[in-house]
Amino acid sequence: MTGPEPDLPAGSEDALRGSTAKLVGQLGCQIVEGGKPRDQHLTVDAVMHEFGVTRPMAREALQALHQKGLVNLQPRIGATVQPLERWDLLDADVISWRLEVAPASQMRSLTELREVIEPRAARLAAVSRSAEVCHDLTSHARTLLALSEDPDFARRREGAAVRQRFRDIDAAFHRSLLAGSRNELFLRLAHPVVMALNHRIDRWSYGDEEPRLAPVPAAVGADTVQDYPVRPQPIAMWLHIGLAYAVDQGLATAAEAFAEAILAEIRRGRLHDPVVLARLRAGLRQFDVDGLPAAYRSGFRTAMAAVIDAGHVPIVVMGVSGCGKTTVGGYLADSLRVPFEEGDRFHPPRNRESLTNGIPLDDRSRSPWLAAIADRMRAATPEEGLVITCSALRRIYRELLRVARPDVFFVHLALDQDEARSRVAGREAHFMPASLVSTQFDDLEPLEEDEVGMTVDATLPPERIVAEVQTELARRIRAH
Ligand code: ADP
Ligand code: MG
Repeated sequence: MTGPEPDLPAGSEDALRGSTAKLVGQLGCQIVEGGKPRDQHLTVDAVMHEFGVTRPMAREALQALHQKGLVNLQPRIGATVQPLERWDLLDADVISWRLEVAPASQMRSLTELREVIEPRAARLAAVSRSAEVCHDLTSHARTLLALSEDPDFARRREGAAVRQRFRDIDAAFHRSLLAGSRNELFLRLAHPVVMALNHRIDRWSYGDEEPRLAPVPAAVGADTVQDYPVRPQPIAMWLHIGLAYAVDQGLATAAEAFAEAILAEIRRGRLHDPVVLARLRAGLRQFDVDGLPAAYRSGFRTAMAAVIDAGHVPIVVMGVSGCGKTTVGGYLADSLRVPFEEGDRFHPPRNRESLTNGIPLDDRSRSPWLAAIADRMRAATPEEGLVITCSALRRIYRELLRVARPDVFFVHLALDQDEARSRVAGREAHFMPASLVSTQFDDLEPLEEDEVGMTVDATLPPERIVAEVQTELARRIRAH
């Protein structure tokens, strides 16, 4: 069957080459999409007919697809569509067709590839520590941070140049990292890595908050496109700074951890994986923040603290009745932006009844209450966090809670018996009678040396107490 052979487009050879490339792209996408099933036979005539192109163009297109492994071209027989494992999956065109046809799955594959090679490349780069690579990485990382903070970045038209520059420098950064590994195979994979980077940035520049599944239309100026695209996350930029300077300082573990964290941030948009965070902590322990240029130190510290902090540990505000658990716990939860839970709520009715009648609780009656509190603590995810009140008077009670959550942090609000009694007596509408305060002090076993937590003077104003707790938590994060 011979299709109509249209006239050659009026114009140069360039135009012809351009339209052949377009034809290759159309056919490539069709094959990638499964529109031309495996083993389907493609003759030059059929291509001419379907696309209305000349014989030389059809032939050239099939040859190009043959080179990319999408079809198998045999003399006289024609082309046969090949299965995916035959495709040249690292070919730039094949990647871009797959990004166009199935962006989510191609991005997943590319990101998985990056997850394997980039942390390793970072480690190797830190070991090799080539002067040129160190210079490039640190300078690119600083430029990326500056560009990401450019007020125009997120503006559709005004920011186009900034975003383009960001895209170029980001590609250069990641290419330098792979080059720094001195592994030629890693460097050979720079192209797919850069395509994955570009794909994300191009999506930002169109203002998509959610990943788009369909290819983005070329009409950038259309009114339908959102005005405020996503910017690079500041944390991602600080991780690039960390990575660059870790390589520069020859710190392999830190470099690897930063590279891994960059990828974790891409994948989930957040850094909450406890394994990644643990490695990032180890990297930060190795890293010398004072080795950063002075202008970057405090920003870096703040950004890292926020990430490490993002995995909230559950906090138990403990102490005798009247010490201020409910008051201070509420403030503390607000200031940490985590949920607040009133531990008294977990008492079975009969415990409340006992207390109201002036009968102190014992280990037995406290057991279901502690179990319920432990359950609530178990349910608190690191993203969510939790501040919960619980007198947790005896060490064995705290051990129960620690079994539920080994990362628990206790805040003991300490005060003397007179103060506690006067506070409880002054408190209206509460089931706990002042007569029971002394029994609370009988049971109280203050935090011991080896218990993770802190003791604060409960007579300080609540805001002061909250500030002290926050300072201590931040100090521990840094010390980690
Ligand atoms: P708990 O929950 O430990 O029994 P509360 O938070 O109910 O203690 O506080 C008992 C009483 O003490 C309340 O009247 C509260 O307003 C008061 N109080 C709590 N914390 C402080 C503080 N830091 N300084 C002064 N008064 C406080
Ligand atoms: Mg209370």
